[in-house]
Amino acid sequence: MQRKKLIAGNWKMNGLLSDSKKLAQEIATAVKSAKPSCDVLVCPPFVLLTTIKKALRGSKVMLGAQDCSMFEKGAHTGDVSPYQLKDAGCDFVILGHSERRADHKESSALVKAKAEAALNAGLKVIICVGETLAERESGKALEVVEKQVKASLANGANASNTVIAYEPVWAIGTGKTATPQDAEEVHAHIRNVLVQKCSKAIASRMKILYGGSMKPSNAAELLKEPDIDGGLIGGASLKSEDFLEIIRKAN
Ligand code: PEP
Repeated sequence: MQRKKLIAGNWKMNGLLSDSKKLAQEIATAVKSAKPSCDVLVCPPFVLLTTIKKALRGSKVMLGAQDCSMFEKGAHTGDVSPYQLKDAGCDFVILGHSERRADHKESSALVKAKAEAALNAGLKVIICVGETLAERESGKALEVVEKQVKASLANGANASNTVIAYEPVWAIGTGKTATPQDAEEVHAHIRNVLVQKCSKAIASRMKILYGGSMKPSNAAELLKEPDIDGGLIGGASLKSEDFLEIIRKAN
């Protein structure tokens, strides 16, 4: 099954107005002229969303947020509704990133509730899963990831509204990357889990991204694995030349 690749930048809590606008404009301009065969997405912090939306205007680069509330509106100080994200021009929202699972004790059940709220608001979701170093070293990586996928996906998840990102926690922001073979083993396992949880048709179409220190020097070998359908990229998405080089490698 041929799946269109997706290269997504997770800017995390980085950037101020002027440098972020410049980054988005550089990406938009390059994507407009190169017309890559993959889809491209950037996910800035909440406060930059509307500025970046404008900076991307006229390009096919999509916009995403990094989290959302499970609620539609109301007394939830500090939270952001998926309806507000949709209204701000977002196409996607990242949910269950390991930094949120760790910093905010987000459980898979909460991630699932947020995913359902986001789908109801008309957003697409990227659901992040991944094992810690201790879990990998004790041989539990596949089991942990399987549990997270089963418990985090929305009812109604399908290949048009949901993307999974496998991000081994020990590889995020550390410079350590899973070998293409180790990553592919987990991706193939996730696809089998999707057959059981959803259907064979959904499993064969749903994109599964790899995230964890993906950079220009390792992107090509990861992206050529049969079940790796793109990347969720943190550090290397903050420099336009690195991010654009990864996009080229995805072609
Ligand atoms: C991420 O934040 O999702 C990520 C994979 O970060 P990095 O590329 O910096 O490891």
